[in-house]
Amino acid sequence: MTGVESSWLSGLQLNPEQRAAVVYTGGPMRILAGAGTGKTQTLTARFAYLVRELGVAPHQILALTFSRKAAEEMRNRVVKQLDGNYRDLSIMTFHAFCLRLVREWRREDGVTEIGILGEDERRWLAGLVIDTIPDTSRLHYFGAAARGKYVGDLLTLSDRAKEHLLDPEKVAEYAARKEDGTGRLQDLALAFAAYQARLFDDHQRDYGDLAMEVVARLRSEPLVRERTRSLFQHLLVDEFQDTNLAQFSLLELLMPDGRHLCVVGDPNQSIYAFRGGRPEYITNFPEKIEGAVTFSLTENYRSGPAILNAANQLIAFNDERERFDLRSYDPASRATITASEVATVDHEAEVIARRILKLVRDPLLARRYGDIAILVRSLKTSQEAIIRALTANGIPYRLGGDRVAGYEVVQDLLAALRLTVGPSTWKDAVRLAVGQGASAAAFRGIEGHLGPLERDLALSGERVDLRDLSSDQRTALQRVCTLARNARESSSAEVPELVYRAMELSGQLRDGVPAETGRFLSGVLRQASTLAETGASANDVLEQFIFSHDTDDNEAPDDPHGVQLLTVHAAKGLEWPIVFVAGLAEGLFPVPMRLDRDFDLDQLSEWVSTESFVDQPEAIRAASYMKEERRLAYVAITRGKEEVHLIIPRASGVKRLAPSIFVAEAGLGDPTRVIPGLAENGPPATMTDLVRNLRTSRQRALAASIDDPNAERHLSSLMLAQWAASGLVDGATPLRDRLIPEPYGDSEPLRFSFSRLSTYESCPRQYLYGSVLGLELDEDFSSGTFGTAVHDALKALNHGWLESGTPPDDPEIERVVDLVWPEAGFDFAKQREQLRLRARKMLSRYYTWERSKSSPRKPVAIESAFREPYGMHTVTGRIDLALKDETGGVEIIDFKTGNLSNLDKAPESMQLYLYDHAWKQKNPEASPRVSFYALRQPDDKGFKTGPEWIPKQNIGHQHTEETAASARQKIDGLLAGMLENDFTPRPGEKTCGFCRFRWLCPEG
Ligand code: SF4
Repeated sequence: MTGVESSWLSGLQLNPEQRAAVVYTGGPMRILAGAGTGKTQTLTARFAYLVRELGVAPHQILALTFSRKAAEEMRNRVVKQLDGNYRDLSIMTFHAFCLRLVREWRREDGVTEIGILGEDERRWLAGLVIDTIPDTSRLHYFGAAARGKYVGDLLTLSDRAKEHLLDPEKVAEYAARKEDGTGRLQDLALAFAAYQARLFDDHQRDYGDLAMEVVARLRSEPLVRERTRSLFQHLLVDEFQDTNLAQFSLLELLMPDGRHLCVVGDPNQSIYAFRGGRPEYITNFPEKIEGAVTFSLTENYRSGPAILNAANQLIAFNDERERFDLRSYDPASRATITASEVATVDHEAEVIARRILKLVRDPLLARRYGDIAILVRSLKTSQEAIIRALTANGIPYRLGGDRVAGYEVVQDLLAALRLTVGPSTWKDAVRLAVGQGASAAAFRGIEGHLGPLERDLALSGERVDLRDLSSDQRTALQRVCTLARNARESSSAEVPELVYRAMELSGQLRDGVPAETGRFLSGVLRQASTLAETGASANDVLEQFIFSHDTDDNEAPDDPHGVQLLTVHAAKGLEWPIVFVAGLAEGLFPVPMRLDRDFDLDQLSEWVSTESFVDQPEAIRAASYMKEERRLAYVAITRGKEEVHLIIPRASGVKRLAPSIFVAEAGLGDPTRVIPGLAENGPPATMTDLVRNLRTSRQRALAASIDDPNAERHLSSLMLAQWAASGLVDGATPLRDRLIPEPYGDSEPLRFSFSRLSTYESCPRQYLYGSVLGLELDEDFSSGTFGTAVHDALKALNHGWLESGTPPDDPEIERVVDLVWPEAGFDFAKQREQLRLRARKMLSRYYTWERSKSSPRKPVAIESAFREPYGMHTVTGRIDLALKDETGGVEIIDFKTGNLSNLDKAPESMQLYLYDHAWKQKNPEASPRVSFYALRQPDDKGFKTGPEWIPKQNIGHQHTEETAASARQKIDGLLAGMLENDFTPRPGEKTCGFCRFRWLCPEG
């Protein structure tokens, strides 16, 4: 260590680990910086130390990182540490650095400037390229149906190839060597070659091309290499654990001996394998770079010990060579980490929303929405339920990964800015012209006649040969040339004026400024004010802004007034006082490994370095995959400062989920069970009902009859406070003694329904929880939503039938289904639509059959509730529909939307018998036919079997004395069990799987 202490250095208040890393000057170095250990502070202090204490010129230090925000923050801090004395700082992203070199070289060579394609544009271009490949040249992706997949796979292959520095020839060779018999790779290699050719013909690049082009040129041209190396004396690299092969090769070329190379990163936070990031570069750094010294930052300034202990325990399962545990700066911190099981993903969202409300509304907690983040593994699978719950509870939120640059209006503005500050590009000018009403067909026609060079010349005001153009095409060309000329006229203005002109060019001043533009502009102006201090020109400011906006793919929301909902990937580098990590269930987090061997990075990397394939056993591949998922969970946990809540949904729709292994690995394997609405936010309506119900002596007696100690634990934890508050019990004696068992007289009448009988029949304990103790939970499985919605539609349609005398036709069915179809209660938006269409088909099929009858029947009861005596008891229920035919015969119908195989046969059905019984109480002379109408047919797989409803599939019956006696005997047996307080659990895979109380029941 050769650093010399100064008042400036001691004023930085670095801890010993940080200080050692800041002042080291002995050669190549690696700083292993754990989450929250002051990595950026150390890196920026080192930058400033090199300048202030060692006299290195700031422009000779190149600091590279991965995101615009990180570069911006580092720049701000360095400027501050240098007291604002230096402006010319090379602190930027890898992409921006490569673009700068490529553009400088092209200017020196006097060749045409290049444009950079954003994600939408390159997808569009890939589609164009694929359209030129005839089916006869393809082996795998045939026809229009495969187009989307072909485009997506091409872009993935393109990214992987460029990260591994593979050009089209090498990719073709890889495809030929690895051929798996599907022809897929061959098709992709063909498309990749065409895509690259088109990019280069049009003077365009995508982001992957940049590092590849820089590496190729530095490798092949010694003079350029030496000159580039001489620009920088020191190289600082942030987030080194995310480096891919192309980026690592670039660093090797810039500083082959690594003498003044300082890399900073955390192998435990390497989470970008999907885009080529390889933690090996940081873990193998000492072997790769001779003489490299390692410094470790382990003192965490963010989270309390409980959170860090859980994170350390979790990441220890990755069993890495170099393990470094984080320790808290504040050992006395009362930070907490909890794990809670909830019933379903919908309940998870509700539990989180209610907890947030409590955090914000409780004056003792007094949190702000901006203090809270909800992290998910994938927005695609989790955001819908969470957003629904946040919205329903009036909680403001911002969505991470909601890239403002992805909006059409912002893309228009970016195009206008590029035209204003950079060389005019055809695609930007055409985008704006088409957006303002010009004919897209005319521009396609122009592209057929004029090559890229001629188009660029025309845009820059040069003469080109227009003889082959139609008059429409000439007008269109004139229009874009005028646009480009107007844009160029403003290019010497200051940032605000340039932005104003760009808004004018994109038509946004005329049409009104959209909200997304407002958000975007606030970012432009913030960055402008930062960069203005560096002396950068307005063009430089905007160019850097445009470029970084195009390249950042993880833009975290930045809003102190809303809860932030974002992916773990987008949350990296950020922190909040309170963090909820949602969806910690197997299948959601970790997500299952995709066996996409064509793009298998291990295989690709091996092939790049050895030109051979390793066929790794599945188990090794799976272990490597799990390490990355575990690192993601580690990143999620280490975002929280004071509270981390891990939430474990135990079902998604009707699919059961196992808790994520990461919960147990973090030492939180005994999660609290949270019944939604009960434990989190005071007594909800259901709890009030519960207390009211338990005021009857019978219910207290039955609650006391639960002699299972686990049941007591679960019940007591949920109910104790409310029971005590109700004055029913005191808080000192055990639960069972606190409740007063009273003998239940077997002559007391019961009120029952078929659904209660049925529940009791399948599991008496379930009946106890739901019907006796009143623990009715507001579960909302999508299958239930579907059934309820179809019944709502039936009710409305049958009333229409009653009024008009005719069964409804298809337009009416569609109208009614669309009207009643609920917004919420489905697992995802697509499912809502699929089930809506399914409902239309089901109903259409049934009513077509009713309409086809030669003498249509008439409804005589619709959704008709009954409450009738049954011996000394009372039976209640509701009849879906009763129809009378012209002979006066009545059929009572119960519509089923589920699978018929679960139904009892009609003569034995308790349900149909109870309908028969209830009907006869009012109509003693009648003997109705009682039927199940299965709207879904037994062989009905995906409703592909045709439009007819098959009447023989319904199960109908007219009771005889014999069948009635048999059904009655069954019902009486069940009633006797209820009267005898027999609530013995009857667990079974299927029963418990669908039981609403499995979260409470020790048997579940
Ligand atoms: S979890 Fe199983 S045993 Fe327990 S109440 Fe439900 S169905 Fe009965």
